[in-house]
Amino acid sequence: MGRVLVIGAGGVGSVVIQKMAQHPDLFSDILLASRTELKCKDIASKISGVNITTASVDADNVKEVVALINDFKPELVVNVALPYQDLPIMDACLETKVSYLDTANYEPIDEAKYEYSWQWAYKKKFEEAGITAILGCGFDPGVTSIFTARAAKHHFDEIHYLDIVDCNGGDHGKAFATNFNPEINIREITQEGKYWEDGKWVVTKPHEIHRPLDYPNIGEKESYLIYHEELESLVKNYPTIKRARFWMTFGQEYLTHLRVIQNIGMASIEPIIYEGKEIVPIQFLKAVLPDPGDLGENYTGETSIGCRIKGVKDGKEKTYYIYNNCSHQKAFDETGMQGVSYTTGVPCMLGAMMYLKGIWKKPGVYNVEEFNPDPFLELLGENGLPWVEKFDVDLEL
Ligand code: NDP
Repeated sequence: MGRVLVIGAGGVGSVVIQKMAQHPDLFSDILLASRTELKCKDIASKISGVNITTASVDADNVKEVVALINDFKPELVVNVALPYQDLPIMDACLETKVSYLDTANYEPIDEAKYEYSWQWAYKKKFEEAGITAILGCGFDPGVTSIFTARAAKHHFDEIHYLDIVDCNGGDHGKAFATNFNPEINIREITQEGKYWEDGKWVVTKPHEIHRPLDYPNIGEKESYLIYHEELESLVKNYPTIKRARFWMTFGQEYLTHLRVIQNIGMASIEPIIYEGKEIVPIQFLKAVLPDPGDLGENYTGETSIGCRIKGVKDGKEKTYYIYNNCSHQKAFDETGMQGVSYTTGVPCMLGAMMYLKGIWKKPGVYNVEEFNPDPFLELLGENGLPWVEKFDVDLEL
């Protein structure tokens, strides 16, 4: 029996709730709250077998979140709203002494800056309050970090080279759409590239480094080096890593649209005055782009996300590749959502399960690789995301 408050009713929130409802013994009482309660009610109407209620909340407002927590008294708050809300929700958790889980690191709304510093700064306060914060429990960050933890625990004495490879081999039939919140997604992929090498960060121009990589069941796809937040915690938690990089596939059509959007100023996060009202171009753009939650119906193909690792075990060099492939169509048939929402929502639900079962529960603020990966990975496949590991592979990198 567990009481969970889920904040955010987008594509990811919808999958999280549906997946929690598949475990009614554990997630017996759920409160789904978001800015627009109608979206919560729509998700709740598809659920049976668990007690689910809905509420509206502005999660930027600590007092509102505190009031909601005090009223519902959850054991855990699951944050699948936007990265801007991480800190106010963590503040509300501290005030009410309730544990916290999210899938993306905090970003200030007026600065596209990706670092854990703000959330790591809460460590002592969470320790003193006796509550747990589980950071980055989606797919990437999330499963990629847990795959790395498995590699470190079972297959390597030292990890030296880590390449996280994220391929979306799917086709949604739209000229341009993002697979999760467009504002967050465009901010993330238009920033400078960055990777870790020999103890320091190397910065590149956006999409400057790219190469074709071969993905299982998908084939070769041009893959671009971008910065991704799990690199920061992984190089800290695995100091033997000499180089850590993140690669993501983009099609030419997607990159052309992105370039135009940037060139005409629509990706800007600087507010402008339009007809006497202040608007932020990228927020306006989000309003006219397809809703990622609506992409699922005709989405074909698969995602393939994993870790390609080189290091040493018992004095010998070793290569290792661990990955999951997820079919957009299968994800849609099960949940009405496409593969990217699905691959984020399933691990988020499992992280909450790990907490409620007391397996991932320790006072403080932790990235997911700091917990035992085994019980999580034992359940990942049967909850919809089977994974494969290969040894002695050509990593192509
Ligand atoms: P959506 O935009 O579809 O959903 C976000 C939800 O949060 C919406 O329901 C929105 O409300 C709500 N929200 C926004 N601001 C507030 C606020 N101030 N108070 C309350 N609710 C608010 O996003 P996604 O579902 O695609 O993504 C959710 C999260 O998952 C994001 O943080 C994203 O970065 C993360 N993510 C993580 C991934 C991973 O692998 N780790 C991959 C993909 C996403 P409204 O409907 O009113 O706008």
